[in-house]
Amino acid sequence: MNTQPSLREALAQAAAAGVERLDAQRLLQHLLQQGRAWLLAHDDEPLSTTQAAAWHALLARRAAGEPLAYLTGEREFHGLPLQVNPAVLVPRPDTETLVDWALELLAGPWAQTPCPQVADLGTGSGAIALAVKQACPRASVRASDLSPAALAMARGNGQRLALEVDWLAGPWWQPYGPPALHLALSNPPYIEAGDPHLPALRHEPLSALVPPGGDGLAALREIIQGAPPHLAAGGWLLLEHGHDQADAVAALLRQRGFAQVQHQRDLGGHRRCTGGCWPDAT
Ligand code: GLN
Repeated sequence: MNTQPSLREALAQAAAAGVERLDAQRLLQHLLQQGRAWLLAHDDEPLSTTQAAAWHALLARRAAGEPLAYLTGEREFHGLPLQVNPAVLVPRPDTETLVDWALELLAGPWAQTPCPQVADLGTGSGAIALAVKQACPRASVRASDLSPAALAMARGNGQRLALEVDWLAGPWWQPYGPPALHLALSNPPYIEAGDPHLPALRHEPLSALVPPGGDGLAALREIIQGAPPHLAAGGWLLLEHGHDQADAVAALLRQRGFAQVQHQRDLGGHRRCTGGCWPDAT
């Protein structure tokens, strides 16, 4: 094998390994710490032997299904460059739907509230909490996770992006005390144990994908049951869930006493988020 392939040859090696061209270009950018324009202009540039060895290792990992984000250590979410590692779920574009919905409420019913209280339960990389804080700086944002490794990742992202979020350790509602929340957000684990999509997600933390016990609705149910004491009158609980869980989540919200239960569709047109308003006591 050519030990010092040019960038063009490196891309051909990627294609032969079944790695998509765009992914391969991103990996080269990461490896060489260069932008896309530089890459395209330096087709004939050879990799050093050290770079070539690193390149083959990256290609092998990508070909084995490791998410690109874990190989480069970063992923953009809602315009924010986030660092990620295998302790956290790779943020998905579909989850931007949840953020956009939260921002609509902050600009709507809570527009006159000087310091709306927002929580992100099971924050992982911190994606939801940080995107909300970035777009709505007046919000007071708290975010929690059970996993210390995830929380360290999230806190690091907050520091790097200079976004102030209160990071709390613990399961679902446990770390939250007063003040009452105007907005509670969560993208909890919602995949059923044995779901045929799971093998493709094997590099990501199982605890972020499948609830303990394996019932896809278990975490969603627990969050909905525990929410009311933490919500201000008129506060909203917004949840991401599986593409086929919208009706079940809506029913759980209504049973618990939530009003105005409604859905938002993801980029694929699925009802991906469901939320409800905790009614005013009056
Ligand atoms: N949206 C992710 C997926 O289906 C799952 C995230 C989750 O369980 N919260 O790949």
